[in-house]
Amino acid sequence: MTRDNDDLRALIRTISDFPKPGIQFRDITTLLLDAQGFAATIERLASQMEEKPDLIAGIDARGFVFAAALALHLGTGLLLIRKDGKLPGETIAEEYALEYGTDRLAMHVDACAPGAKVALVDDLIATGGTAVAAARLIERAGASVTGAHFVIGLTELEGSERLRAEGVNVHALIEY
Ligand code: AMP
Repeated sequence: MTRDNDDLRALIRTISDFPKPGIQFRDITTLLLDAQGFAATIERLASQMEEKPDLIAGIDARGFVFAAALALHLGTGLLLIRKDGKLPGETIAEEYALEYGTDRLAMHVDACAPGAKVALVDDLIATGGTAVAAARLIERAGASVTGAHFVIGLTELEGSERLRAEGVNVHALIEY
C-alpha cells in the first residue's frame, strides 16, 4: 500500500452503510472541494503515465471529473464512456455484472481512431466490472488501453487483478 498519498487519503470521507448496509462508501466530493488536493490528485494521476496517451477516457459519472481535468492537464482529448442510452450517436455497448443484476456501458463507435492510445480513468475500482467493460469497449473500437488510473482501489475486491487479467496496467493512488 502506498503511503505517499496520505495527504489525499485524509481528504476522502468514508460514509458507512451508503447506499446500503455494509458498504463503506469512499466519498471523493470532499477531495474535490480542496483546491490543492484536487490539483495534486490530477498531477499524480498524470505522473503514473509513462507516455502521453492520445485520449483520456472517463467513466460515467465521477470518472468524468478526474478525466476532464487530466485531459486538460495533459493536453489530450476526452472520451466519455457513459451508461447505455445516454449517447446520441451510434454506439457500442458492454454489459457488466452488478451485485444484483447487470448494467451496460456505451461509447460512440467513432469516438477514437483505430490504433489510438487511450488511458482509462475512474474515481474508484471495486470489483473491476465497470472498468473491464470500459476497457473492452475501447479495444472493440480498435484502440489500445495504455493503462487504467484510479484515485482509489479497494484491494479486497480484487478488481485490479480482474483488469490485469485483461492485459491492462492498473494504477491507484490510494488503496483501502
Ligand atoms: P466496480 O465495477 O465494482 O469496480 O465498481 C466501480 C464503480 O462503482 C466506480 O465507478 C465507483 O464510483 C463505484 N463504487 C463502487 N464501490 C464504491 C465504494 N465503496 N465507494 C464509492 N464508490 C464506489
